Amino acid sequence: MVGKMSILVTGGAGYLGSHTVLTLLQAGHSVVVLDNFSNSSAVVLSRIAQLAGRAPTFVRGDVRDGACLRNLFLKYPIQAVMHFAGLKSVAESARQPLNYYLNNVSGTLQLCQAMAEFGIYRLVFSSSATVYGDSNEMPLSEDSPTGVPTNPYGRSKLMVEELLQDLADAEGRWGIAVLRYFNPVGAHKSGFIGDDPNGTPNNLLPYISQVAVGRLKALQLFGNDYPTPDGTGVRDYIHVLDLAAGHLCALEAVGRRSGLSTWNLGTGRGYSVLEVISAFERACGRKVDFVIVPRREGDVAQCWADPGKAFRELGWRAERGLDEMMADAWRWQLTNPDGYKESGV
Ligand code: NAD
Ligand code: UDP
Repeated sequence: MVGKMSILVTGGAGYLGSHTVLTLLQAGHSVVVLDNFSNSSAVVLSRIAQLAGRAPTFVRGDVRDGACLRNLFLKYPIQAVMHFAGLKSVAESARQPLNYYLNNVSGTLQLCQAMAEFGIYRLVFSSSATVYGDSNEMPLSEDSPTGVPTNPYGRSKLMVEELLQDLADAEGRWGIAVLRYFNPVGAHKSGFIGDDPNGTPNNLLPYISQVAVGRLKALQLFGNDYPTPDGTGVRDYIHVLDLAAGHLCALEAVGRRSGLSTWNLGTGRGYSVLEVISAFERACGRKVDFVIVPRREGDVAQCWADPGKAFRELGWRAERGLDEMMADAWRWQLTNPDGYKESGV
């Protein structure tokens, strides 16, 4: 167990960052959130404060802004950084590649440069299972080859993984955790914080939730002709609070070991789109209408983790099952039908 630390969380107002900030505060750490609110709102910070009984420090700013980072490191005694800030839409990345490379790649370079200047060498980075590409070999372990990403978002994650490896090779003081997330879903039990995508959701769970709550008409199910048991895509869905707990374990690990380590954060179990729809219907007690449409370009048939390395090396494993993920996602959607937007708190 490491002692209480002062941690910078970039992108801490976002979906995954907000749940991790809460987990860090509850574990007794001090947290500074840096966010530019490009995909989030200030409401989430007061919700976190209500749940944790104390607020994280907040700095509104951009990871691409070196002066902002230096001011932050001058002002706060940061010991480690969790770097969530970035853009995450595959489709948007194909339309705006420059924006994706600037935010995801240049943003990380600026951050690492400022960290090194201030002697901060512990970093936990949000990567993605998308770096594995299309593979027939399941489950995916950290040794599985990385694929050839089919879009700028995937390429930006792989580029950052590679540049972080170069950093760790060049300077032995870095302790870097690259966490490859599978499919984070669900929300905090309170229904106070959750996933609040801008516009029409790209991801399955927020889409299903918005159909169930009556905001969207029917789910478009992208393909039932995949070589999977029921023909629909299979993914490894992981509860966002299990993911957040994984970050705490990774933070401790980068305090004890130097170099770069890569860990999958997944459950090790895959579910098809049809199985997810059924589980969600059980959780919400309503029918989720869907229509089968052609495959979405770039989607892989199946993707699930071998989470064994994280268990062996971090003592972490996902605890929550699919029904709990669905129930928690539904509670968040039902109590916040329009996300954070309509909320006064
Ligand atoms: P999110 O959009 O909810 O959160 C990202 C946060 O970063 C937002 O609050 C946004 O305002 C902020 N941000 C974006 N660019 C910024 C910048 N230049 N400077 C400062 N703040 C900035 O996304 P999320 O789902 O919480 O994802 C967090 C990270 O995890 C991302 O790097 C994403 O690529 C990665 N990831 C997410 C998933 C997923 O399914 N959600 C899966 C794999 C990897
Ligand atoms: N999916 C779908 N309809 C949607 C969104 C997703 O059928 O509106 C399917 C998608 O083809 C994939 C699974 O749901 O098989 C998970 O998709 P998501 O975008 O959430 O995650 P990713 O594809 O990035 O793993």
